[in-house]
Amino acid sequence: MAAPTHMTIAEARKALKAKKISSAELTDAHLKAMEQTRGLNAFVTETPERAKADAKRADVVLAKGEGGPLEGIPLGIKDLFCTEGVLTTAGSHILDGFKPPYESTVSAKLWQAGAIMLGKLNMDEFAMGSSNMTSYHGAVKNPWRRKGANSDLVPGGSSGGSAAAVAARSVMGATATDTGGSIRQPAAFTGTVGIKPTYGRCSRWGIVAFASSLDQAGPIARTVEDCAIMLQAMSGHDPKDSTSADLPVPNFEAAVERGVKGLKIGIPKEYKLDGAPKEIQDLWEQGIAWLKEAGATPVDITLPHTKYALPVYYVIAPAEASSNLARYDGVRFGLRVPGKTLDEMYENTRAAGFGAEVKRRILIGTYVLSAGYYDAYYLRAQRVRSLIARDFTEAYKQVDAILTPATPSAAFAIGEKMDDPIAMYLNDVFTVTANLAGLPGISVPGGVNADGLPLGLQVIGKAFDEETVFAVGRALEKAANFTALPEGMA
Ligand code: GLN
Repeated sequence: MAAPTHMTIAEARKALKAKKISSAELTDAHLKAMEQTRGLNAFVTETPERAKADAKRADVVLAKGEGGPLEGIPLGIKDLFCTEGVLTTAGSHILDGFKPPYESTVSAKLWQAGAIMLGKLNMDEFAMGSSNMTSYHGAVKNPWRRKGANSDLVPGGSSGGSAAAVAARSVMGATATDTGGSIRQPAAFTGTVGIKPTYGRCSRWGIVAFASSLDQAGPIARTVEDCAIMLQAMSGHDPKDSTSADLPVPNFEAAVERGVKGLKIGIPKEYKLDGAPKEIQDLWEQGIAWLKEAGATPVDITLPHTKYALPVYYVIAPAEASSNLARYDGVRFGLRVPGKTLDEMYENTRAAGFGAEVKRRILIGTYVLSAGYYDAYYLRAQRVRSLIARDFTEAYKQVDAILTPATPSAAFAIGEKMDDPIAMYLNDVFTVTANLAGLPGISVPGGVNADGLPLGLQVIGKAFDEETVFAVGRALEKAANFTALPEGMA
């Protein structure tokens, strides 16, 4: 039997059922790993007492041969999910001391399935970022380093704490959210698997809103199968979120081993970027070859409006954010910085409570929504968004899924790109299209680059066809046989 922190969720579940290990043992091993890896700054809040008590309860249930699909499995929760009575900051100073009186639907579903919370995971402030460097709680370190080098790298963002904790084996899996790539990009940077399901698959209720028409919850875990197990528990219709889809949740786990024989896989020529590192192109070609060997047929396709996706995203996401973040006024949640008048109190609170990136987005969003510029920016962006979605609809008349690289580079150093927002925004070049079109996308580790850093491949599927995404992701995972570990983790 593997060491408890090196088991997958699927393996641990079997071992728990067979009483080869108890949830208390599994949880203690992860709490210990959490302590040992504190230097990564992956957690904002640790909840060891609650974890121990819940593990004890899970063991009682398991002893009776009962329990949910995640009974006794220790997980981490991104600090964007409201957790009843447990500090929830969204990585921001403005939510200081905020203990929600309610639980997000997604986390509630995980607890119903028997999972155990180890703590709340660090993230970019309000999920705005690609490096986890915008967090009020400080940067998260990637457990991976370049071979023979000592500089600390970013774990990606915004779900950087989730990805780092999964890679460092202090949690078996974690919740994350993806508005423009925040599940897939950190997964790619840390050698983990992350899936953003179709918009509407998971309820957004109780998740601190960034850009409501783009935000989706999903899991980060170490295998495709583990992601399927977690997503199964997280998904489903919720009357409290009017955008959550009233559709049955398929059996994701059963889809994982379906294979790809006979599937047509689209290879979009627009994802071949001038100036992208050769290692990214090589990995993509390797991915195509793997799928071919597994019985799929690659098909060249075109998604002609791809080049507009980043500019469109960086109009729509800030527009929605500026509206969503209007609620942080010092009256209802978290931080309050007094002033002589009510207006001054608002101003003082928002000036002190938001970081630079969040302020930049609020300014851009307010500008593109203003009466004089609405048509020129916001409305136009919405129109182009429809064209981007239509590109996919057209492509899916020909193919079953699409294969692309997940990110245009491997993990970069902490501090890099912070003085150049455009360079930072380029991280999302391969991922934002799926958010704009509402489609499911998974990132699977495909290998390591010359520096020994993980690189990810992305599979984008049809709306509500996560099953094919899992099957193709699994085929890549099998072929890649990614067994590399961050230094010192073997
Ligand atoms: N990096 C992107 C941004 O900064 C995406 C963030 C996300 O998906 N939450 O907006």
